[in-house]
Amino acid sequence: MSIIAPKNSAIMDTIPLVYERNEHYLFNFSQDIGIDLGTATVLVYVQGRGIVLREPSVVASDKTSGKMVAFGEEARRMLGRTPGNIVAVRPLSDGVISDYQMTEKMLKYFIRKVSKSLIFKPRIIICVPSGVTEVEERAVVDAALQAGARKVYLIEEPIAAAIGAGIDIAKPYGNMVVDIGGGTTDIAVISLGGIVVSSSIKIAGDKFDENIVKYIRRKYNMAIGDRTAEEIKVQIGCVFSHEERREMDVRGRSLVSGLPKNVMMTSNETIDALSETAQSIIEAVHSVLERTPPELVGDIGTNGMILTGGGSLIRGLDKLLERETGIKVRIADDAVSCVALGTGKALESMDILDEYNYRMDRKWQ
Ligand code: ADP
Ligand code: MG
Repeated sequence: MSIIAPKNSAIMDTIPLVYERNEHYLFNFSQDIGIDLGTATVLVYVQGRGIVLREPSVVASDKTSGKMVAFGEEARRMLGRTPGNIVAVRPLSDGVISDYQMTEKMLKYFIRKVSKSLIFKPRIIICVPSGVTEVEERAVVDAALQAGARKVYLIEEPIAAAIGAGIDIAKPYGNMVVDIGGGTTDIAVISLGGIVVSSSIKIAGDKFDENIVKYIRRKYNMAIGDRTAEEIKVQIGCVFSHEERREMDVRGRSLVSGLPKNVMMTSNETIDALSETAQSIIEAVHSVLERTPPELVGDIGTNGMILTGGGSLIRGLDKLLERETGIKVRIADDAVSCVALGTGKALESMDILDEYNYRMDRKWQ
């Protein structure tokens, strides 16, 4: 395996590194693939077909034999309901690859699922959560190569999110992207196709779910599952008091009697439950702005910031951020698919990339 880097140009900078097998093909019959390897969801984009797969990043394995028994949607159905010997885990849950054998198998499963041809090998762009280590990146690259990739390109998540949100990142103009996923929130200021300042915190959508579980436990002496917590968040969850009031009938188990119990929960209660986490996200945005060069802050002030990722859909977060920073906030049109769509657009520049493959010894981030 060799490391190849593209020539120095703004578009090329968005695709920092290329891994290639020493195999040569006269024609490219395969359809190239872009993958958003998220902490909560994996999305796969196939050139010419768009997003063809969207499944949770979950692996189910047998504790006794160590064998992995299911991936994606099938594995998620097992979460929290598994018999003693089967465990369902999310191998990327904290934005780092906690189990890379699992990540590797999962990635292979998804790639095989979308690959039509076993003869013509695709080129694959993978967007990994920022904050993964070099070892973890290599694990992802190896997995993709073993799954049949001809070449693997790694792309930084905020860049893919920005491209997907329709920002022309090659311009000498500061743009701020805040991607709120399941496990991590990634904040970046991008200019001239590169990341100028960034930060990644392990506080995102899943934290809101945890907050709701804790709140209901404390206030109502009631236990609820993670999926119920997520449902509450999506249905009535809110972080800003000026949003429309909603309520929801919540079912769980009484911690006193051990029996089923119902409570009516309102969106105002979710503000109490979620505000601390929302505040942490806002603080992280502040700290990135503080480290951003003044000209770029000026651009962001004019242009506003863009929110992407499923976590950004929680009601009121955009308005809260706007109030706390004084900067205009826009949620990207298809916030959940933004990163995958960005890898899809990046696929289009791969042919240009191939013309420039020269080797480089620079240590890669
Ligand atoms: P990742 O990129 O880490 O896989 P995603 O961008 O898919 O994550 O976002 C997943 C998170 O977004 C989850 O915590 C999920 O509960 C949350 N989410 C998805 N839709 C909504 C919604 N409508 N309101 C609030 N949160 C949402
Ligand atoms: Mg993501």
